[in-house]
Amino acid sequence: MSPTTSAPAIGVVSKKTGVRWIPVIGLEVHCQLKTETKLFCSCRYEFGASPNTLTCPVCTAQPGALPVLNREALALAVRVAGALGADVAARTKFDRKNYFYCDLPKGYQISQYDQPFCTGGGVTLASGKRVRLVRIHLEEDAGKAIHDRGDMTLVDLNRAGVPLIESVTHADMQTSDEAYEYLTALKEILQYVGASDCDMEKGSLRCDVNVSVHPEGEGWRTKVELKNLNSFKNVKDAIEHEIERQIEAYESGDKSKFPVQETRLYDATTQTTRTMRSKEDAHDYRYFPEPDLVPFHLDPAFVEKQRSMLPELPAARRARYQSQFGLSAYDAGVLTSSRALADFFETTVKLSGNPKESANWIANGVLANLSDPAITAKSVDELPFRAHDLAELIELVANQTIHNNVGRTVLRGMFESGKSPRQIVKEQGLEQVSDEGQLESWCREALVGKDKVIADVKAGKTKAVAALMGPVMKASKGSANPQKVQEILLRIIQTEL
Ligand code: ZN
Ligand code: MN
Repeated sequence: MSPTTSAPAIGVVSKKTGVRWIPVIGLEVHCQLKTETKLFCSCRYEFGASPNTLTCPVCTAQPGALPVLNREALALAVRVAGALGADVAARTKFDRKNYFYCDLPKGYQISQYDQPFCTGGGVTLASGKRVRLVRIHLEEDAGKAIHDRGDMTLVDLNRAGVPLIESVTHADMQTSDEAYEYLTALKEILQYVGASDCDMEKGSLRCDVNVSVHPEGEGWRTKVELKNLNSFKNVKDAIEHEIERQIEAYESGDKSKFPVQETRLYDATTQTTRTMRSKEDAHDYRYFPEPDLVPFHLDPAFVEKQRSMLPELPAARRARYQSQFGLSAYDAGVLTSSRALADFFETTVKLSGNPKESANWIANGVLANLSDPAITAKSVDELPFRAHDLAELIELVANQTIHNNVGRTVLRGMFESGKSPRQIVKEQGLEQVSDEGQLESWCREALVGKDKVIADVKAGKTKAVAALMGPVMKASKGSANPQKVQEILLRIIQTEL
């Protein structure tokens, strides 16, 4: 049983002691930049490629090989800085971060120590709270050590040298929800500016968490680092677990159990953490300036050019969708959750002239189909039809060529066959039938043997007619104009029966 309970105010009040514990949370996010080539050589990188095929003398650290900075990586990094409202340094340099591991052939990582290319900036949460960034720096990724082959460890250097940006927040967050929201917002921004895929499953976004707790009114205590967090959900769960673990440790009164500065690994299956290693300090890495890359000045014109290439960012789009299109905050959030989805929505609005219905058909219809395992397309980039087709579907429903429910069937057909809505309607004979003669004959069929309904309607309970709508719609395969069907049913009952 947990000794703690959440309180509405900041922090966690211990049931055992009544002490209010204040969590302090900071995040470090590593994110692979989506460049053509690696950070210091001309190798491509592709997740899942055959091991050690995407390497060269530079990224495998052959003697005499020299790094050359990838301008595209720098451009993307500067663009990210702009999107996060951060300051780009006038002068920056690279440093060697020394440590030994089998996936690091040079014995050091080229990173940035005391002069990162970017400082400041941050992300504003929905509550208005700003999570501030300390810095963002550029560095190279390490290779990958694969430990799951019996007593062997295999090394794949394809990833060695892939450009990363590491962003470090101030310890501004106090709940796991704030951390989750920060990560979601950061990921959206990185994707919007085209800097990264941010695909945690492929390791293109990786997150480490620093957590400490202290009694309200007291100073900060020892922070613990959590690693091995493979999803935002894991980040949230790990933080919650760690807050609880630290409070319990302090409240035990046993100093030998108090949190120490260390790195702990999160195990998602047991939802617990365990010690990985005692936490290193910066001096352990013996940072020194990278002698093969000279310090350099960032040309203000270059920085300005990257800024000018920034797209409208998610928060701005959300606000605009609410004011310009009258959408709810919720719908605006759903539609801006990826840039591709937001672009698709806006094109549909432009072509259909109907923002509300575009929002409706995308937020409900399109996204519901995308999350259906039976549908091949998994994201908006994989849709087998275009915004033009969806706009056509919206028009067919708006002008009553087809009923709304039939529209759903047509949309499904678009997902399955990629055919245009008009073609599907024509092929399946789904056009709404308003022909009186045809409707009347379906209505008369449906009335057979429905004496109770007929009696109710005659007694003034016109709503009872609803029970006949299903059979008529079924007989017409959904193509009957429901409004007309209702009119005809009432007319027949009231005037003929
Ligand atoms: Zn290379
Ligand atoms: Mn790093």
